[in-house]
Amino acid sequence: MGIDAPRQTGQLIKIETDRRLGHEWDEWDGTPLDNGGNFAAPVRLYFGFTAVGFALAAALLAGGVYLLAPRLGALWGGLPGALYYSIGAGLLLALAWLALIALAVATGRSLLPERLAERGLFLRTLHLAWRTGQLFGVRRDWTGHASVLVYDRLALARRRTVSADELLILIPRCLSREALDGVLAIAKRHNVSAFVATRGQLARRVIRERRPRAVVAVACERDMVSGIHDVAGRVPVLGLTMTLPSGPCKDASIDLGRMEEFVSKYLGKT
Ligand code: SF4
Repeated sequence: MGIDAPRQTGQLIKIETDRRLGHEWDEWDGTPLDNGGNFAAPVRLYFGFTAVGFALAAALLAGGVYLLAPRLGALWGGLPGALYYSIGAGLLLALAWLALIALAVATGRSLLPERLAERGLFLRTLHLAWRTGQLFGVRRDWTGHASVLVYDRLALARRRTVSADELLILIPRCLSREALDGVLAIAKRHNVSAFVATRGQLARRVIRERRPRAVVAVACERDMVSGIHDVAGRVPVLGLTMTLPSGPCKDASIDLGRMEEFVSKYLGKT
């Protein structure tokens, strides 16, 4: 069924795709995933790696200025010093921003406008966090989980509400039968449309064409981080990550209580 079909609630609208499934896991070697595919991680992982990432970026820039100092100095004697100063000030500003995000997460209050938080600047740090984590040997799934937690807390603090026909539930094709039935039951109970999108890119297309005012999305950490990165600036999203006991892209389970909580929050029922 195409995505222009009339709205259906509590029913599954399956969207076919011609692209390969689960590309985020192309490099998986078939071995069991860490911790049975449950990547639950504390938010400090996001904050720690983002802060270190900021410091590394500043050090790289300062190193570049150091190497080019003779040439820069030939242009203007004070230029290298001014650049060092700007890099230091930029780092302090970035760390101050991160501290404000941490405070917002800890207090559950919106301290910054959306564009300076979860629907703007925060999105630009998602890749930095997991890439920095990888430098220290931490798989991107763990950092991704922590990042999605931070994102959700910032988004929930907005206390945004929409009507049932403005909300969309997006689920991947890898859910176990039990999880899928659970999601459909929630969708039916709240009269909300649910879509299964077989690829992250297709999920983005559904959002573009259906134009919901809010989305509850389910995906593994990898797909969720890239999806939030691409979509959250345009439409508010709450992200629910999964457990992958059978490895990636198969029989995934989710916390259905959390899913119901997200839907209820958007509908102003809690
Ligand atoms: S959401 Fe599911 S199908 Fe998509 S990449 Fe993740 S594990 Fe694979």
